[in-house]
Amino acid sequence: MARTLLDKVWDAHTVRTLPSGQTQLLIGLHLIHEVTTPQAFQMLKELKLGVRMPERTFATLDHIIPTDDQSRPYADPMAEEMAIHMIRNAKDYKLPLFDMSTGKQGIVHVIGPELGLSQPGMTIACGDSHTSTHGAVGAIAFGIGTTQVRDVLATQCLAMGKPKLRQVRVDGALARGVYAKDVILTIINQLGVKGGVGYAYEYAGDVIAGMTMEERLTVCNMSIEGGARCGYVNPDQTTFDYLRERPYAPAGEKFDRAVTWWKSMASESTATYDDVVRVDGSAIEPVVTWGINPGMSVGVGQRIPAPDSAPEADRSTFREALAHMGFEAGQPIKGAKIDVAFVGSCTNGRLSDLRAAAEVAKRGKVARHVRALIVPGSQQVEKAAEAEGLHEIFQSAGFQWRKAGCSMCLGMNPDKLVGREMSASSSNRNFIGRQGSPTGRTLLMSPAMVVAAAITGAVADVREILR
Ligand code: SF4
Repeated sequence: MARTLLDKVWDAHTVRTLPSGQTQLLIGLHLIHEVTTPQAFQMLKELKLGVRMPERTFATLDHIIPTDDQSRPYADPMAEEMAIHMIRNAKDYKLPLFDMSTGKQGIVHVIGPELGLSQPGMTIACGDSHTSTHGAVGAIAFGIGTTQVRDVLATQCLAMGKPKLRQVRVDGALARGVYAKDVILTIINQLGVKGGVGYAYEYAGDVIAGMTMEERLTVCNMSIEGGARCGYVNPDQTTFDYLRERPYAPAGEKFDRAVTWWKSMASESTATYDDVVRVDGSAIEPVVTWGINPGMSVGVGQRIPAPDSAPEADRSTFREALAHMGFEAGQPIKGAKIDVAFVGSCTNGRLSDLRAAAEVAKRGKVARHVRALIVPGSQQVEKAAEAEGLHEIFQSAGFQWRKAGCSMCLGMNPDKLVGREMSASSSNRNFIGRQGSPTGRTLLMSPAMVVAAAITGAVADVREILR
């Protein structure tokens, strides 16, 4: 029977079937960071266990890192303590740590693919929801909790149930001013934030096939926001070209042998799926969220929907969202005033995101009332962007150019919203309080749309600026 990539990766990594019916799955790559590991390492120490496969375990510092003044000790004692724990645990267990001195530090989901650690046919785990990102290279990648981080550290295995598989086909062609972020926000809007529960998503179709690796990383990153356990794209020439000569990818003849194996792991053309969904890529316009989850979005030319237009079960969340955001049903999203603009995160903090943002930043200056941050996803992105002069474009337009980290994606470092500030953000979550203020408000959109909002001072249609 024809098999999918999910079938092949699952079978290749199955150690055994557990009495519970779950699979004991070998994890090929374990990525760790400072936030979800201190307790896991503590449990490991109490149990007098070592790290089972240190050669498959890589650490970074990202969530708590200040992106302006990085001098130690950090101003926040909790951040300092987490950093100390990560550094000490990496040393104690002889694990590679990409700290600031390495030039390779960055958000865990940016550096994994960037360094060639994330490869096709792998199983990948990390104590962070957005581990689904790594599926873009053709891996099955899961976010896990702290107890599971302990389990992977100790055994290199996870007990997991195999998800069902939905193919999400995006065909047609994207219009100018429409980006990967708009594609995934549209998918989540159409299928719902719980639509993917119990599923893995295989992204396919003309639009996905034509995407760069960085665009695919953006799409897979937000699979979890649509409820899916993971999301992936079958490996193809784009994947192989992206991985070639990355520091941790196989080199020379080994690379060619790896490509042969990677190709064999792709879904077969006659494979069947538990579900297939089609999205018309040509109909997608720049998308903006208006609510308190990533599914509550509209095209930039549309109006905020009324609760009555939602399914009965969602209406109270719609009302809560309108009240929190201070919006009226029927109000156009375009023109909603913003206070803060943030380009960065593991969704949209890569070089191509910064290039797209700079293309718009060239055309204006940040509005006087807007605080605007550009935060590279990694030190390597920062360096490459500076080599192209992107930082100068941003700075002369009035943006702050920061150092690599999660920054304003979440409120765990000094970059936070204050009070009821409204933020145009290229991150992945608009939950209440996500950007550090319990009354703060988040509008998710593409990096280019964030910059358009920053220079307009309100939600704007980037297509009108790029004209
Ligand atoms: S950028 Fe945001 S979503 Fe991504 S790893 Fe950091 S905190 Fe998590």
